[in-house]
Amino acid sequence: MDIQELITKSSSEQRKALLNKDVTAKELTEAVYKQVETVDGTIGAYNSLTKDFALETAKKVDEKILKGEELPALAGIPLALKDNINLKSYPTTASSKILENFISPYDATVTKKLKENLIPVIGKTNLDEFAMGSSNENSAFKIVRNPWNIKKVPGGSSGGSAAAVAAGEATTALGSDTGGSIRLPASYCGLVGLKPTYGRVSRYGLIAFASSLDQIGPITRTVEDAALLLNVIAGHDEKDSTSLNQEAPDFTKDLRKDLKGVKIGFIKELCNEGLTDDVKNAVEKSIATYKNLGAEVVEISLPLIKYSIAVYYVIATAEASSNLARFDGVKYGYRAKDVNNLYDMYVKTRAQGFGDEVKRRIMLGTYALSSGYYDAYYKKAQQLRRLVKNDFDKAFEKVDVLLSPTCPHTAFDIGSKVEDPLSMYLTDIATITANLAGIPAMNIPVGTDKTGMPIGLQLQANCLNETKLLNVAFKLEEAVQFDYSIPSKTLV
Ligand code: GLN
Repeated sequence: MDIQELITKSSSEQRKALLNKDVTAKELTEAVYKQVETVDGTIGAYNSLTKDFALETAKKVDEKILKGEELPALAGIPLALKDNINLKSYPTTASSKILENFISPYDATVTKKLKENLIPVIGKTNLDEFAMGSSNENSAFKIVRNPWNIKKVPGGSSGGSAAAVAAGEATTALGSDTGGSIRLPASYCGLVGLKPTYGRVSRYGLIAFASSLDQIGPITRTVEDAALLLNVIAGHDEKDSTSLNQEAPDFTKDLRKDLKGVKIGFIKELCNEGLTDDVKNAVEKSIATYKNLGAEVVEISLPLIKYSIAVYYVIATAEASSNLARFDGVKYGYRAKDVNNLYDMYVKTRAQGFGDEVKRRIMLGTYALSSGYYDAYYKKAQQLRRLVKNDFDKAFEKVDVLLSPTCPHTAFDIGSKVEDPLSMYLTDIATITANLAGIPAMNIPVGTDKTGMPIGLQLQANCLNETKLLNVAFKLEEAVQFDYSIPSKTLV
């Protein structure tokens, strides 16, 4: 296989080529950088490249292969890292002016694990500033374009990570998901995206947006790749007090199990109204496929979904307003010049350093937490969050996995929603509840719409049930045979 073709393939195919000595890890890494050089001027997936680190890692992989030593499953497979996750000695900007010149002083726990597994990090990927957004148009530096159609958004906030994988600029990626930021870009870019159970993956070294909702997870071309990458990053971490003190299983172990006896519930509130015809058809087709595969499919109602966006935007903004208080011009990054006193320095630094959406969230969150309003907004939202979780608990007494579209529509045109934050917020209607409930959820591509843009299906399982989730996703992927490599080939 020629190397240009190889960079569009899954990690298992690339691993085969490495072990067969058809290609070295150095050649594979260099081919990916060549692709970045060719396409990233158009796509805008990367904020910065980490070439020294990637080539050094590739070299270690090649030495191991030469010596015939055992190789970790994803060793030598090029990965894109979202630019809100620390990689020591390289910039971490969160796509914000306020962190423009910030260099990570330490490794995030997930990054440490990437290093232990000899995974070359190609670069740090663009995102909506501080992961706030659904289209990647909120980056302070540049927008990201969807590799399937460069007039469209890639989804956000992990849009750079998804675009990089779709465009052949990396084989896998890590993103973060607070309300859908892994699944939505995966859906818009025809990829697999997995938000693990809250606490499954350490958040140490991830720039916090809303700490009770944030989770790091994989964006990949195949379900198996997602399972392999989750194997790398999952596990207890004493540096994160919300990390689960439980050993992670091998997430690939049940992938190929048949679906006899598995119960799938399609979510009534998300599968009927408000969907485009193409998305609706794709959902119906997926349900039919599951029935053919021997699963039992029933309707499940989650009536509280209608409140989820409101609940999310109170809780997420409240936590964000608190988390972002640390960016004050003293400790990190940008500091305003021409200031009169300390207070003036805080005000000007934050006024100049944060973008509009981040300011909007800080104001909303500060309001929701202020005395006199706390009970009416924040406390109410927390109470509703519990009720949403109860709804899921009840649903999972009846079914193993829940099914819905990931988004009611496919990727939209760049610029078409920026003036209307509320309509932007609505793109997350299907994804947000998984973060509120802490459950694992993933996107898998199931087809394209009339204009050729990918359609994503969302599957959700009960807490810690990623193996079942991945199994159910794998079987559908096998049946659908979605071609994820189209944009990486047509772009060059
Ligand atoms: N789109 C949602 C928001 O803007 C979710 C973002 C995320 O998951 N990081 O908050």
